[in-house]
Amino acid sequence: MTQINIVVAGASGKMGSEALRMIENEKDLNLVACVDLNHTGKKVSEVDGLPKLDALFYQDINDCLNEVDADILIDLTSPKVGYKHTKAAILHGVRPVVGTTGFTDEQLEELTKLAKEKQVGGIIAPNFARGAILMMEFSKLAAKFFPDVEIIEKHHDQKVDAPSGTAIKTAQLIQENRSTKIQGHPDEEEVIKGARGADFDGMKIHSVRLPGLVAHQEVTFAGPGENLTIKHDSYHRESFMSGIRFAIDHVIDMTELIYGLEHLMID
Ligand code: NAP
Repeated sequence: MTQINIVVAGASGKMGSEALRMIENEKDLNLVACVDLNHTGKKVSEVDGLPKLDALFYQDINDCLNEVDADILIDLTSPKVGYKHTKAAILHGVRPVVGTTGFTDEQLEELTKLAKEKQVGGIIAPNFARGAILMMEFSKLAAKFFPDVEIIEKHHDQKVDAPSGTAIKTAQLIQENRSTKIQGHPDEEEVIKGARGADFDGMKIHSVRLPGLVAHQEVTFAGPGENLTIKHDSYHRESFMSGIRFAIDHVIDMTELIYGLEHLMID
């Protein structure tokens, strides 16, 4: 069985530690190193709550990729760090599988161009839950018939970016099938600023942050006398891991960087 060597950045975080558990359970995946801020020089097995794996923690992505033989970088950090890590991975010829959300359009464009130049395959996906991908695709289809739509996303209160990458991606997909339309009453006024949510091409996006939540979104469409709501819930971070595993198997044979798991599931 061919082994795939993996580095996980953000390994002691909520998503990263779940990725370590997934790697531990997959016979052909081999963790060769981790990157985060706090555990430099320690083995994974020496950090409380992490699996009994021997790989070492590094602080700097370039030191890490210079020293280990990696095929894949899984990045689950924060937008600024994730961008730096993805760029470093591409420059080292290591395929990025990035779940970190909050990349700007300019960053995505730059990374896509760089990956093409270097012929390095990879994926940046704001959501690795396969059910969420289907929720987005169903929403894109519904937008053909219902141009009035609002997106409500709900996440745990430690999330730093709002709206979520999934909400933005959903709005972009809906936009492909919906002409620009300013929704609501033309004289609508916000008595408290922000009450109507963020505006994306006339669609409203509402972000809820509460402890105990994981990742939840509903896309609610309406026409005269009817309402269609498409809803997805991730109750546990395990829900993202089958998508990450699926992406690893695909990027190994790719020579470009793609944005969104739907390109592997549906296109
Ligand atoms: P988290 O628990 O805060 O974990 C973030 C991790 O990043 C921590 O391990 C942290 O290390 C590390 N980190 C921060 N700054 C760093 C730096 N400068 N260099 C190296 N590592 C650094 O966050 P989370 O909930 O796991 O989420 C991580 C990311 O995944 C977020 O962007 C979130 O939106 C995204 N996410 C994506 C999906 C998806 O399906 N695509 C699903 C859920 C979440 P320390 O602990 O040492 O500070």
